[in-house]
Amino acid sequence: MEWSNWSGLASARPARTVVPSSTEQVVAEVQRAREDGTTVKMVGTGHSFTAISAPEHTMLRPQGLSGVVGVDRAAMTVTALAGTRLADLNTALERLGLSLHNMGDIAEQTLAGAVSTGTHGSGGVAAGLAAQLAGLELVTGTGEVLRASETENPDVFAVARVGLGALGVLTTLTFRVEPLFVLEAHEQPMSWDAALASFDEMVATSHHVDMYWFPHTDRMSVKRNDRLDVPLAEAEPLSRARAWFDDDFLQNTAFGAVTAVLNRVPSAIPRVNRLNARLLGSRTYSDVPHRVFTARRDVVFREMEYAVPRAAGLPALREARAALDASGLRVSFPVEIRTAPADDVALSTASGRDSCYLAFHTHRDADHRAYFDLLEPILRAHEGRPHWGKLHTRSAADLAPAYPRFGEFLAVRDRLDPDRVFANDYLRRVLGD
Ligand SMILES: Cc1cc2nc3c(=O)[nH]c(=O)nc-3n(C[C@H](O)[C@H](O)[C@H](O)COP(=O)(O)OP(=O)(O)OC[C@H]3O[C@@H](n4cnc5c(N)ncnc54)[C@H](O)[C@@H]3O)c2cc1C
Repeated sequence: MEWSNWSGLASARPARTVVPSSTEQVVAEVQRAREDGTTVKMVGTGHSFTAISAPEHTMLRPQGLSGVVGVDRAAMTVTALAGTRLADLNTALERLGLSLHNMGDIAEQTLAGAVSTGTHGSGGVAAGLAAQLAGLELVTGTGEVLRASETENPDVFAVARVGLGALGVLTTLTFRVEPLFVLEAHEQPMSWDAALASFDEMVATSHHVDMYWFPHTDRMSVKRNDRLDVPLAEAEPLSRARAWFDDDFLQNTAFGAVTAVLNRVPSAIPRVNRLNARLLGSRTYSDVPHRVFTARRDVVFREMEYAVPRAAGLPALREARAALDASGLRVSFPVEIRTAPADDVALSTASGRDSCYLAFHTHRDADHRAYFDLLEPILRAHEGRPHWGKLHTRSAADLAPAYPRFGEFLAVRDRLDPDRVFANDYLRRVLGD
């Protein structure tokens, strides 16, 4: 069975495909690969832009390991099988009157895939999904089943929450959860100058701030999400018609059609970006958190995202804008700006430092390389760390200095996967052999 990722940039023809539905089956596949001297790779839904999940020999698919398997209301934790899609966890949590604290802007990914690459949203007390984990279970490269938390195998817990698929096959994940709450989104257009001038204050006063800059314009769209202390019945979601027009039609159908045409007429991009920015007006609505955080993304794109230290965020953004303006390149997709508080996960992009994320996108049929090559040196110069699931050119030698705990990760990898049962080309590049 052929495997390819969402963006279409990576594909593979694994020799074997298995859909395990128990930890024992995962153990059997790992032991088999170890004895045969081959590799095994559990894939998620392929939403990483990099070839991080490309299987080389045996591919384990996630569908058999799906569903919530434990709810502990005293500890406020929920345990789910690792192949559960985030959207399915969100629905199950909503029925239980519970919610995750924070998340990114889609919910198609598997839980294991999302945590393994450091998937994050913006703001809050934890932006990354991995930083919301209370425990996990994984099958190591020697076929051992290990549970890890702050009190059980804490050395493994410290690194395996963002494990890049290199330390084992995750089988269950336990998340810290909260009582379901109402989140209010306030979206508004702003000028570049006003948005940058008030960014620090917005981040300090709102729970979650997400900004989009339209390249070649002075226009931003700013989304602030705040928790409301009101009963769920008082939430005021968007009407179906407004949600369809804004989110399905404008941001998917129309945006997809227009950006496809712009690939052939790049000189029109600045004018169309100005128009797009104007069409996205102000709106306020409230709903349960996952319906405010996440949206549909039908237009396939390519993405590079870097985390820089929080204080370097706006200077790096200004430099990126200046470089783009001077380059003659034309980019039709907005640049996304988010923040994260420091976390304690060794290879999380926010490990040990408050961070600002800058994400750059192109349409799938536009050549992303010139754009990303132009900006990556700027982000690197600001001590940037690339998102593990998004495009970048870094390798082990130059990633190690970016992560003070890189050596700690490699030492656990040597212990948990001595025969490199979980290796693939991407991991050989970013972690070494
Ligand atoms: C449209 C779109 C929007 C996105 N939005 C965001 C966002 O808002 N914020 C953000 O940070 N990122 C975002 N991403 C990136 C995305 O969240 C990550 O790339 C994520 O890893 C994808 O999860 P997946 O299930 O598709 O995993 P895959 O891409 O299939 O796999 C990712 C890694 O997880 C490993 N893995 C999967 N299952 C297991 C398992 N059971 N045990 C061990 N390892 C496993 C794989 O081997 C691989 O190493 C977005 C991507 C897209 C395409």
